[in-house]
Amino acid sequence: MEAMDFGFLRKEPLPPKDHKVAVIGAGPSGLAAAGYLASQGYQVDVYDKLPQAGGLMTFGIPSHRIPADRIQAGVRQLSHRYGVNFHLKTKICCSAPLHEEEGDHFSCDIHGLGELVEDFDAVIICTGSWRSRKLCIEGEDLPGVFSGLEFLFPIRAARYDTSLVKVPQIKGRDIVVIGAGHSAVDVASSSIHLGAASLAMVYRRTAKEAPCGQYEIDQLVESGMQFMGNMTPVRFTGKDAVDGVECTRKNADGSTETVHLPCQIAVTAIGEIPTPPFAKELGLEKVRKGEVKWLNMTAIENVFVAGDVLTGPSKIGKAIYSGLMAARSLANWMDLKVLHREDEFTADGGPMMPPR
Ligand SMILES: Cc1cc2nc3c(=O)[nH]c(=O)nc-3n(C[C@H](O)[C@H](O)[C@H](O)COP(=O)(O)OP(=O)(O)OC[C@H]3O[C@@H](n4cnc5c(N)ncnc54)[C@H](O)[C@@H]3O)c2cc1C
Repeated sequence: MEAMDFGFLRKEPLPPKDHKVAVIGAGPSGLAAAGYLASQGYQVDVYDKLPQAGGLMTFGIPSHRIPADRIQAGVRQLSHRYGVNFHLKTKICCSAPLHEEEGDHFSCDIHGLGELVEDFDAVIICTGSWRSRKLCIEGEDLPGVFSGLEFLFPIRAARYDTSLVKVPQIKGRDIVVIGAGHSAVDVASSSIHLGAASLAMVYRRTAKEAPCGQYEIDQLVESGMQFMGNMTPVRFTGKDAVDGVECTRKNADGSTETVHLPCQIAVTAIGEIPTPPFAKELGLEKVRKGEVKWLNMTAIENVFVAGDVLTGPSKIGKAIYSGLMAARSLANWMDLKVLHREDEFTADGGPMMPPR
């Protein structure tokens, strides 16, 4: 089995430098940043609140859709060959409560972002998008209504500690998934995999317009899913638990009708929201717009940011690219700082230093 190579820029790391970098978040962006910096000789420490590295690749995307073993082999390679230190089950936060997002219950240790800023020469925040969007309609708090991550996370996390997660009972249930992006597809394929009695995907537009692409939907339909386009959920029904989803369907002639879909589980997989340790003080909006002194640098000079926490929910490849860009920017900034050439800082990453 070939390891996913996060330090692919160099087969062996350069001699150790005197600089220490902390990476918060061991998803694809954090692992790519760690691989880049460690291969350049930086001492890298990665912090993650979960019991294993990989981020959504390990705890969101179902294992039958991603080579989990190759990811873990890549993480071991980062540790053994490139000397990256992993601090798992460790949440980094500021003032936010500890148990706020999926996976927080696995954290045994907690550090303030301020501590890392003090203890390391630089920090890269790669904490992803872990808070699910809400539909904000009646009945969303009923038992049996889940967000995409509430549904998927326990399925992947249960192998670490079943007392900390409650896996939804899927076998034999009628399931409605709302949305047609990556999360919705994974909810649907997990439901089929785990023996749902019936499965319907509700989307407000047509299959052609679905963010996951027509191909994914066709595959799921072939496996037994019913795709219901041009449907908008208006409320979840049920007294003590959800027993259905009421939707408005737009017909081809422009008329609308109300449709009730009976179910015992409804999943709102309509996307996630970025979860930085704290947002305002970092000035993330300015980083997003590129109104910064240095590419990927936040309002705190030695703190950089990358991946979905910066861009919003995206894709693995884009998160890896973002992690690499932030790491390169950090390395260039550090090199100039050491040479006292700070006046050459520019928002586009500044002059590239000679190849290392
Ligand atoms: C259900 C689902 C299915 C998807 N399917 C696909 C797909 O098929 N193909 C594709 O290309 N993309 C897919 N994506 C998108 C892809 O997974 C993400 O774009 C990518 O993982 C983002 O990488 P990241 O490193 O920015 O963040 P993440 O992968 O989210 O990693 C962030 C890491 O930070 C950690 N963390 C968060 N906060 C803290 C904190 N305060 N302290 C310490 N650690 C913290 C988390 O535990 C996590 O390990 C999917 C996303 C979801 C939600």
